[in-house]
Amino acid sequence: MRHSSAHAPPKVLVIATGNPGKLREFHSLLAGLPFVLASQAELGVPATPETGSSFLANALLKARHAAAATGCAAIADDSGLEVDALGGAPGIYSARYAGPGADDAANNAKLLAALAHTPPAERGARYRCALAFIDRATDTQLWTEGVWEGTVLDAPRGAGGFGYDAYFWLPELGMTAAELKPHEKNRRSHRGLALRALREQLAAQL
Ligand code: IMP
Repeated sequence: MRHSSAHAPPKVLVIATGNPGKLREFHSLLAGLPFVLASQAELGVPATPETGSSFLANALLKARHAAAATGCAAIADDSGLEVDALGGAPGIYSARYAGPGADDAANNAKLLAALAHTPPAERGARYRCALAFIDRATDTQLWTEGVWEGTVLDAPRGAGGFGYDAYFWLPELGMTAAELKPHEKNRRSHRGLALRALREQLAAQL
């Protein structure tokens, strides 16, 4: 990465996600970096199938795809919810837990059904995020990971966030991720942690 200057306009950084909830968080978390941000949809890049067997493999796959399609630097995450009582499910299948194209409501309904007989003390879970940054112009490939521990409720609370947030209980705060203000979620979340680690790696390269 290079500093922008009067002679070198900021480079475009493609955010390789079509998820509007993630896009909002990326825009906030990437603010201040010397890049002009664009979503892959704005640049006409179709989503690529997530065929990897880990969060990191999928994040690299998505970032490489967007970088190759646009010739720009690209950033992608792959993230999801790991529930201990379900052996780590839905994990990398979080977005399509209830089937291809499933929406948040269907995924949450399947999660609640799967945990129907699991008592509160055994509902430990975590959000995990792998983040990948690719800039072929400078031959840069970086990746980081963030983890956010919580438990799964059996009734929703809060209207913020997206995905499983209304069921993701944060014992130390006494609220769900959906009850946090966006900046508070970004400060603590798996994606926020991974992004801040990535910003440090980028800064170290300057
Ligand atoms: P991906 O787009 O393949 O990485 O899938 C991510 C999926 O994991 C989302 O569709 C949500 O179901 C879930 N997920 C990841 N991060 C969050 C979050 O911050 N809040 C709620 N759900 C999340």
